[in-house]
Amino acid sequence: MMILYKPNIHYLTEHATDPDKRRYAVEAEAPRHYIDLDFYGERSVDSLPRNWSTAVEKFTLDSLNRHGIVPWHIQLMLIRLTEAFKQKNYSLIMKNSAEIGHYIADAHVPLHTTSNYNGQKTNQTGIHGFWESRVPELLAENEFNFFIGKASFIKDPTSYISKVIKESNQAIDSVLYFEKVLTEEITEPFKFSFENRNGKIIKQYSSNFTKSYNLKLNGMIERRMRQSIFSIASFWYTAWVNAGQPDLQQLTNQQFNQQELLDFEVLNETWRKANSIIGREE
Ligand SMILES: [Zn+2]
Repeated sequence: MMILYKPNIHYLTEHATDPDKRRYAVEAEAPRHYIDLDFYGERSVDSLPRNWSTAVEKFTLDSLNRHGIVPWHIQLMLIRLTEAFKQKNYSLIMKNSAEIGHYIADAHVPLHTTSNYNGQKTNQTGIHGFWESRVPELLAENEFNFFIGKASFIKDPTSYISKVIKESNQAIDSVLYFEKVLTEEITEPFKFSFENRNGKIIKQYSSNFTKSYNLKLNGMIERRMRQSIFSIASFWYTAWVNAGQPDLQQLTNQQFNQQELLDFEVLNETWRKANSIIGREE
């Protein structure tokens, strides 16, 4: 598999964010990135129907879309990726690999599994981007280790993703609690700092606050990110195995066609010009 993935690493990295860009253009996109487990009350992710049609029957499509569908969407993406491998279709393999990676990564983020997704219900608005962007942007390069070794074959992808979501959900308490503790410890002006980004002054969580938060979480963000990378590689590998381990050698010199390149450009343009996300913000 490396024979195909390695030369395309640039594409995969760049296009892993396509699903987020699509949120500015397509209404159906937003719910694919999260699930509000708290909506289901006592019932944990284990008690939700694994099968999409059963879920629709039980909760209605409207309700599912309102509270997020990430576990089922990952299942669908895995089917698409497996099919792409069976067809040995270069562009479908690349697109679906990049995109399933995005949804799997989202499922590893605690705040993607709750209706309090940005701390808005607990007076901690902004914590979503703080956890998933600010901390890694400041610390990942020098302090996080992303070497994860070999991918594994996943026998039961649906249970696997349920487990991931369960772990994410269990981490929410700490994610919120330690931000609160630190906020009480620190004097307000030091929680945020102002930095110049491309000529624009932006307010963000200060480096000090960010580092202290990461320490309090005791490596949680790095662990979730490592787990996420391992899961993505393992889903890719599983799709390839389930497709009958097709020989990918002949795909290594393929490229996207004109129309596909144009489609990428259109998505980028729409995203650049759009003012707001359709549906949930984070
Ligand atoms: Zn997302």
